[in-house]
Order: sequence, then structure tokens, then C-alpha cells
Amino acid sequence: MTLVKKEHPLRMTPNALVVLRKRYLEKDDEGKPIETPEELFWRVARTIAQADVAFQGPEKAEETADRFYALMTSLDFIPNSPTLMNAGRPLGQLSACFVLPVEDSIDSIFEAIKHAAMIHKSGGGTGFSFSRIRPENDKVLSTQGVASGPVSFMSVFDTATETIKQGGTRRGANMGILRVDHPDIEKFITCKTDNDRMTNFNISIAVTDSFMKAVEEDAEYELISPRTRERVQSLSARKVFDEITQSAWRNGEPGIIFLDVMNRHNPTPHVGEIESTNPCGEQPLLPYESCNLGSINLASMHRDGNIDYEHLKEVVWDAVHFLDNVIEVNNYPLQIIEDMTRGNRKIGLGVMGFSDLLISLGVPYNSEAAVETAEKVMSFIQQESKAASAHYGKERGNFVNYAGSIYERPETPHMRNATTTTIAPTGTISIIAGCSSGIEPLFAISFVRKVLDGQELVEVHPLFQKVARERGFYSDDLMKKIAEKGSIKNFLEIPADVRNVFVTSHDVTPDWHIRIQAAFQKHTDNAVSKTINFPFSATPEDVSSAYLQAYKLGCKGLTIYRDGSRDVQVLNIQRKP
Ligand code: ADP
Repeated sequence: MTLVKKEHPLRMTPNALVVLRKRYLEKDDEGKPIETPEELFWRVARTIAQADVAFQGPEKAEETADRFYALMTSLDFIPNSPTLMNAGRPLGQLSACFVLPVEDSIDSIFEAIKHAAMIHKSGGGTGFSFSRIRPENDKVLSTQGVASGPVSFMSVFDTATETIKQGGTRRGANMGILRVDHPDIEKFITCKTDNDRMTNFNISIAVTDSFMKAVEEDAEYELISPRTRERVQSLSARKVFDEITQSAWRNGEPGIIFLDVMNRHNPTPHVGEIESTNPCGEQPLLPYESCNLGSINLASMHRDGNIDYEHLKEVVWDAVHFLDNVIEVNNYPLQIIEDMTRGNRKIGLGVMGFSDLLISLGVPYNSEAAVETAEKVMSFIQQESKAASAHYGKERGNFVNYAGSIYERPETPHMRNATTTTIAPTGTISIIAGCSSGIEPLFAISFVRKVLDGQELVEVHPLFQKVARERGFYSDDLMKKIAEKGSIKNFLEIPADVRNVFVTSHDVTPDWHIRIQAAFQKHTDNAVSKTINFPFSATPEDVSSAYLQAYKLGCKGLTIYRDGSRDVQVLNIQRKP
């Protein structure tokens, strides 16, 4: 099945090839790859293009396969990992994101654990709200016993996840959510204080508008029993808010999600309420819904110092076509997940390589110009993805739950997808594309990558290497020194204009991080995956201010990380003691 077209040569970095070989290429029983990267992209392109057969016949599907192949091998667009891994293979499960409901019964709790196990096995991540589980020490009528509470059940989910490694390489990932008005909230806030507990969970507090108002007014708010729906206790909102920020300051957990903001933007309120997101927080979903993601590589979307909108438009349309087709050919782990997913047909088109684009345009990440660029580029993607979805809605039919959705208006008679945009972290696919991840600033200009056998390699950002050579200040010694520091802010031997543009996440203050997140959120249907970096010296009050700023700017959640606050980091800036 080798039909590699000469006109789309694959240019991948050595790292990308390592990642593909390790996790993505089909292997024989002895673990040896039996497909090339080109064959992988053909496998994916053909499988996803198959959806066209039913609508436009086999010839069109062939043509579409060519387009999808070019779309991926140009590295302009890469779908989420499960699509690359599983398309055209027996599992056939293509989505990264799932949310499962957890009711207040042993049956439902263990059903959710079983379903999560099936999803993890296929490479997907799961989010849960534990808010319906009755609190610790509450009554259990059937046994006259006392209830264990959400945190205790979460550790069962955690252990199950630990045990099931995905395809032998990656562990499952979970999001655990608890509403701020659940009686066990204080216990939940600190359930990850020990860095070795609940390691397969990210946790987030679902805060409500009324809670945020109580924080502002320094008032009390009520904790409600999910079983009786009665008030159990009142707490000072500021006290709980401080506990959240203290804990996040300590080791980055918990994050917060603004639940009411998410539900205000829920495109299908008539179908259900949003109570959780996927593991990294960028995809709010209804119970049993899944979503497939894909990201456009912005690093190459420029020409002559400007954004290349013509090319970007073409890529957006092909990407929407691709992601919508994924819904057709996907092999869903459960019938109910298939029904929910087909009902809303949510897709999550996002971006990666945003920092690389800014550098190529000569725009510092921490500047008004970067915020403007973020808004311009994302509003364009939002607008074009909606136009593409409307086109496919007209051609192939609207999503099932269109009637009653926010799109049921004369101006939007057709819509194929209840959502089109999401900003994913792109942890692995940005390595495959060889660009900066998601919308994050560069992690470092040059850094030491720990490789498997304990060796360390100094890697220099390719655009920096190019500039350094062109402007005559490149030396191995300098690159090593930069790797030790992470930032080039204080290297006076580097020209000031270069130092301004090549900023790293540590040079960017939380305020700018949040403004960039908010700029993307403004033009994104779902949510935005982003880490707000703080220096080690930041205070818990700094974290509080960040939460308040994010809420005011319309973000749907916030994840913070204070440098050095967790012990192990995979990518380390090599610091001198
Ligand atoms: P990738 O780059 O591999 O496509 P991302 O880093 O963009 O993935 O993550 C997107 C989503 O994929 C996450 O929010 C989560 O839902 C899912 N995901 C990521 N890593 C894992 C994992 N190890 N196990 C399960 N799901 C994962």
C-alpha cells in the first residue's frame, strides 16, 4: 500500500521521528515498526476520507484522501493522537476527549470506572464530575452504613487508571471536578497536596458565579448536600478561595473552571448541562459526549512578514472536513457515547506554533501586538470554521440537536457541528509538527532534553539558531549557557531586538499569559488549554489576583504553575545550584 506521492515530501525533525516510532507507527509482534511515517499518514488520510463515499462517492473519497495526506504531511494540520494511532487499525477509536457521568450509587460509580478503563485502553482521556456523590460520613440507607465520599471513590478511579497502561506506553489521564458548593470541598482541594497522590488525575474546582460574587463581597456561601439538596453548612467564600489558591500555589493543583461561564456558552442547553471537561480542561462536554481535536500549525502560516490568510483559510476548511469525517468513521467505545457524539457532532479545531508565528512576525509574546495577533488569527479561524461547518451542514445535514440549539436562527440555517474550535495542549502533536506547543510561549530558547538512557542533549530553537548564525553571535558555548538560564533576557551579547522577541514562559508575567488566553477564548467555542507560569517567588495573593483577572476577562478556567513547585519536570531548564 505504498503510494507515497513525491510532491509532499515529509520533513520531520529527529524528535518527531523518535516519537512516531515509539508510539504511533504500526508494529509487529516483536515491536518493530511495519509502516513508515508516510504510510501512517496514508493510513489516516484514507480512513478518514472514507466518510466521503456515502455523501459523494468513491472518486471524491480518493481525491479527499490526497488532500488529507497533503494537509498532514505538510505539517499544516495534525489530528489528536488517538486518530493518528488508531485510524485504519482494529481499535478505530479516534477521539481524545470524553466525559462520563457519575451518579450517587455504587453501580454508577463502578460502571464509570469500567467505561473509563475501556476509553483509556483506546488512548482517550476521561473527565468526571464527582459532585453528585454524597459526602463522606453521610447516610447509606441500604446498609445503614456511612458513605465514603467523592475523594475516597476518586482513589479507586486513580488506581484503576494506574493499572491500565495504554497500549503499554501511556497511562490514562483523568479530570476530576467537584462543585465548590459540595460539602467535601475542602477535602477535595487538598487531595493532591502530596505529589504522589491521585497522580492520574488533574483536579479542578467548579466555581459558580454566586461563589465568585461571595468572594468579591467577602460573604458566606452555602454547601449543599447532593443527596438531600439541603443546605449543610455555610462557609466564608474568601476562606475557601484562599484554600484553593494556597494549594494551587503550592503545587499547581487544583485548577479552577468557571462552570456558569461554560454553561452560558453551552450550544445545546436543551440536551444537557455541562458539568465537566476532558483531562486538560480545554473541552467542556455533556455526560457521555466525546470530541475529536486537531490543530493547525501556525508556525508556517506567514508570508513576507504577514499572516498568510489565504493559505490559512484553505487549511481551516480541509481541517473541518477532516474532523467532521472523523465523527463518521469513528469506532465509539459505547453505543451511548456514539449517540451523544453524533447528536452534537462537536469538533475541536485549534492551533499550535503560535509562539513560532509571533517570532517570525517579530512580535514579542508579552505585548499588545501579540494579543491583537491572537485575536485576529483566532477570530479568522472561528469565522472560517463556522462557514465550513455551515457548508457541510447544508451538504450533509445539520447536527441532530440543531433544533433548540443556539444556532437555530435565520442567520444560521445550517450548521454541521455544535462547536468547531478548541485550543488543545498539543503535547505530542506539536513535537510531530516540530513547532511550539499550543498557544504557549517557548519553554526555553535552548534546553537540555533528558533522553531515555540518562543522556542529556542541548537543543536550540531552530529560529533562534538561524538568527544567531545570521547575526553572527552563535556559539556552542553560548547555547549551553542559555540552556542553564532558560531565558536570554540578561545576555547582553545578544542584540536587544532579538532578546525582545525570543521570550520564554518564564519571561512572561502572569498578566500577559492570561491576556493571551483570554484573547484566544474570545474566539473559541470550547475552552483553551494554557498554563499560567509564575516565578518561584510569587505569593498566594498573586495567584488569587490571576484567578480574578481570568474570570473578569471571560476565561473558562485557569491552570497555574509556580516554577519549581513540583519535583519532577520532564523538560528541565538546567539550573546551576
Ligand atoms: P496530543 O498532542 O497527544 O494529541 P494533547 O496534549 O493535545 O494531545 O491533549 C489533548 C487531550 O488528549 C487531553 O486533554 C486529553 O483529553 C487527551 N490526552 C492527552 N494525554 C493523554 C493520556 N496520556 N491519556 C489519555 N488521554 C490523554
